[in-house]
Order: sequence, then structure tokens, then C-alpha cells
Amino acid sequence: MSVLNDGRDWHVSASVVPCSACDAPLSRGARKSCAACRSAYYCSAACQNAHWAQHRDACKDMCKKRGEALAAEAKDAVAAVFPDAALEEIRL
Ligand SMILES: [Zn+2]
Ligand SMILES: [Zn+2]
Repeated sequence: MSVLNDGRDWHVSASVVPCSACDAPLSRGARKSCAACRSAYYCSAACQNAHWAQHRDACKDMCKKRGEALAAEAKDAVAAVFPDAALEEIRL
């Protein structure tokens, strides 16, 4: 936090997010996101590895929610194309 001393609040800036592990401010392009959920950001692979034990459960939840959202979307898409299809029989 003391790294930036110019009065900018980087926490509310959409283009800069803190590293989930070490809190370093990460600008667009300088950050790596969790490859699975893409909702955690890291300054380095080392930080991602260090944070994984804590992040693992949240990551699984996030992926599950995203998976359910995608499945619902796909189901809507199928229903739009095949309004009479028995959706229960379509395994998504
Ligand atoms: Zn970091
Ligand atoms: Zn994740």
C-alpha cells in the first residue's frame, strides 16, 4: 500500500488491481489471472503458487458458478433453436 504515495486510490481503479497474494498494485498487462477462474490476479507465478492453498476453495466455487451459468446459457440457446426438443435428454 505504501508503494503508491501519490494520492491515487488504486483499489477503486478498474485498470489496477492488487495481487491476491502480496497486494502489489497490478496494472493492466502486468498481471496474471488465475487460469481457472480468472477472478484472482497475481504479479507472478510464485505469488499464484503461494496463494493457491487459500484460493483453491474459492476458485472451485467460482468455476462451478461459471460452469452453471454457461450450462444455462447453452440450454437457452438450444431451446431457441429447438423449441420442442426434450431438453432433459440433451446432455450439455
Ligand atoms: Zn504478488
Ligand atoms: Zn482461481
